[in-house]
Amino acid sequence: MPYGVQHLKQQIPLLDYLRKRSWEAQPMGSQEFVGLCPLHPESRPSFYVNAAKNVFYCHGCGRGGDLVRFVELSLNLSFPETLVHLNQELGSSDPCRDQVLRETVGFYRNQLGLHADACAYLRSRGLRDAGIIQQLGIGYAPGGMLRQHLTRLGYPIELLLQRGIIVHGGQDAFYRRIVFPCFDGNRIVNIYGRSIHKEAPHRFLPGSRGGLFAWSTVASSSDVILVEGPFDLAVLWQAGFVNTTCAFGTRLNQTQLLQLCDQLNRMVFIAFDSDSNGAGQNAARSLARQLERAGLNVRIVDLPEGQDPNSYFISGATSADFHHLLHEAHSL
Ligand SMILES: [Zn+2]
Repeated sequence: MPYGVQHLKQQIPLLDYLRKRSWEAQPMGSQEFVGLCPLHPESRPSFYVNAAKNVFYCHGCGRGGDLVRFVELSLNLSFPETLVHLNQELGSSDPCRDQVLRETVGFYRNQLGLHADACAYLRSRGLRDAGIIQQLGIGYAPGGMLRQHLTRLGYPIELLLQRGIIVHGGQDAFYRRIVFPCFDGNRIVNIYGRSIHKEAPHRFLPGSRGGLFAWSTVASSSDVILVEGPFDLAVLWQAGFVNTTCAFGTRLNQTQLLQLCDQLNRMVFIAFDSDSNGAGQNAARSLARQLERAGLNVRIVDLPEGQDPNSYFISGATSADFHHLLHEAHSL
């Protein structure tokens, strides 16, 4: 249900909206701010915002009004388009939505140590290092307990349904799944759940999957290893390759592509599954072409047939073995 104009204007202060878009302002008294006009090029600040009245006026171009007017002018949108844009803005930064995901991830992390079957599953996937399990925010969703926990903390059912944390029958969305938090910058925007039982193996909550996994740790590396899944990543981190990231699959979304491209001359080693039908290697080549077009240096890592990085380490490979594969990696 989209929000109306009054609610949007109350919830998104004009000043916050501008600052999020890097508008730099000098305070002029307690409620007035002045800076360069975002609507046209200028060298002397003539754009005033009154934070109490939630309005702007520019002495340079003579334009002024409220948040809606500013969005219409700055993005050249119609009134209905502006409402859609502001609803998206509100949805993407609603502190309650963010908070409920953080709370959920925290709850799942606490559950992990309480469930022997979850710990056994992690061991079966080669994960032994408690420090890395903690660093990656890995948790366990036993199912049937989250809803009670969150409603007891005061989160409304509607929010849990809207966020997809519980489903319409009222059950927790994730049941017997190892979970990984997905970030966009510092915000948790989704959760990936890997079933340890018979259900469909991979599941996300509805909505954006965010950026590359564990990117805050990897971002400063000039050599990056890109794998398909978080279990591949976890065993590589364990083996010392903490410049490994993953996109939860073989395709990158726009956010993930921009992250990889944020350093000139970055080298990306693509280490996808070596499926017997060639699917992983085809996906690797297709992605390599895309990354090269974007200006990155790319190498494709060939794993032994039938292996992915996770199974490779489980089957006894060492850091030195993987170093050797990186050394042998080839361009397109
Ligand atoms: Zn102006």
